[in-house]
Amino acid sequence: MLGKISPYFINSVETKKSDNYIEQIENFKKLLYLTDDIFFQTDLEGRFKWINQALKDFLRQSEEQISGKEIFAFIHPEDKSSVRELMQSILPYEKSSALELRFLRPDGDYCFFECRLSLDPQRESYYFAASDISERKIYQEELLRLESIIEASLDGIYAIDCEGRIQSWNKAAEKIFGFSKDEIIGQTIHLLAFPDQREEMDNLINIIRRGETYSYETIRQKKDGETVAVFITLAPIRDSSGEVLGSSAVARDITSHRRLEKEIAQLDKLNTIVELASVISHEVRNPMTTVKGFLQLLYHKIKDKVFREYFEIMIEEMDRVNSILQEFNTIGKKHKESTRMRHNLKTIIKSMAPLLEADAVSQGKTIKFLLRETPDLMVDGNEIRQLILNLTRNALEAMEPNGSVLIKTFVENGQVILAVQDFGKGIAESDLEKLGTPFFTTKESGTGLGLYVCYEIAQRHEAQIKVNTGPKGTTFSVIFPQHAILP
Ligand code: ADP
Ligand code: MG
Repeated sequence: MLGKISPYFINSVETKKSDNYIEQIENFKKLLYLTDDIFFQTDLEGRFKWINQALKDFLRQSEEQISGKEIFAFIHPEDKSSVRELMQSILPYEKSSALELRFLRPDGDYCFFECRLSLDPQRESYYFAASDISERKIYQEELLRLESIIEASLDGIYAIDCEGRIQSWNKAAEKIFGFSKDEIIGQTIHLLAFPDQREEMDNLINIIRRGETYSYETIRQKKDGETVAVFITLAPIRDSSGEVLGSSAVARDITSHRRLEKEIAQLDKLNTIVELASVISHEVRNPMTTVKGFLQLLYHKIKDKVFREYFEIMIEEMDRVNSILQEFNTIGKKHKESTRMRHNLKTIIKSMAPLLEADAVSQGKTIKFLLRETPDLMVDGNEIRQLILNLTRNALEAMEPNGSVLIKTFVENGQVILAVQDFGKGIAESDLEKLGTPFFTTKESGTGLGLYVCYEIAQRHEAQIKVNTGPKGTTFSVIFPQHAILP
């Protein structure tokens, strides 16, 4: 009888030579009565031969009620085949691998058990041992749920131990920092830092060790060397006794926020400039004209050659200030009503010719006009003058001395077009998208506002500005909308 019990039962109990078998069996039964784990014996078909108290309690049935019934009546339909397979494959003296299966509770629900079995050497009985793992299953499912939330998060979420080593790493973290899970697990957080951030990282590890919660904004180095701006929150991870095991980190990519903030700051700067420019152009130009007039007057009276040169410089400088003022003359008017009237591009350009030519000559360059007849437009004359002036200035500045700028007007596809063409070195591909951004300039003493003003004026007129550029030069075309054309 005892021989029918699987050998590992015998090994675990000290046998005394004097004990008789019956007593030993009773001892086993007592032990099996005490445990919450389920033990039972079946025949080769799986019919119950004996069950322990725990199983009786679980099924709420007596041994008599159960005896002769098949275990399969109490097993979840989906688990039956794996139990059968295990029963068929097991050899005597062998302890089977653990199998997860669901037993039917009297209330109709199923409970998860981890089950092992063995076959007695006579091949007459199976012995089953099963422990209730429902709680573990609930934890497991909870864990899976949390895991899928973490994986789906747009924030990078990772765990760091007290040595600063990264222990988990979600998908968003892969995306934000560029390192895959395999590459980063086990590495320290220093891998994410720029070389000059060593101290910051050591500091963070101390914060983690102290079990503090900490939020901060910083930059990190991505795998490809790029910079990413992040907002990181650290929160301690503790074991059940409260000891700090490390920290969780949630990193949010705020690179685009930063960029936006910078842009807003620039706009603020621009607003200040706009106000300043309108004050300057209104208040400073008149006294400047007076000063320049007197300078010119005195210049003619002075005989001393050196002093005359000084006066020349003063007058030139006055002109330079004046021309800068001219460039943003209309910025301040942005919020005011623009006064649109019937204008013809050709007339406007002709009236500006002396000013434009003077500009060109002072740089040793020339301007050519190719003005085809175009219909009248409903536009703000001052603004269009400003537009032409700024485009022409840029065109002149783009060329070496002796170069020539071409100003053209024509009609194409029923639209009136103003084009300013130069034969300079063109605009770098990388600079193209920055054109018209306030303060973007590649010139040493540039303001970076000329084109911004042009784009503003064009926008207010619903006109389009197209740029055609290459190593042989650049053409800025202003395409006026059809509805601006007057009959
Ligand atoms: P600024 O002339 O003060 O630099 P702008 O807003 O007028 O400011 O022009 C911005 C930049 O655009 C210039 O610095 C230059 O790099 C580029 N740019 C504009 N027009 C031309 C052009 N015709 N040829 C080459 N580059 C140009
Ligand atoms: Mg300019």
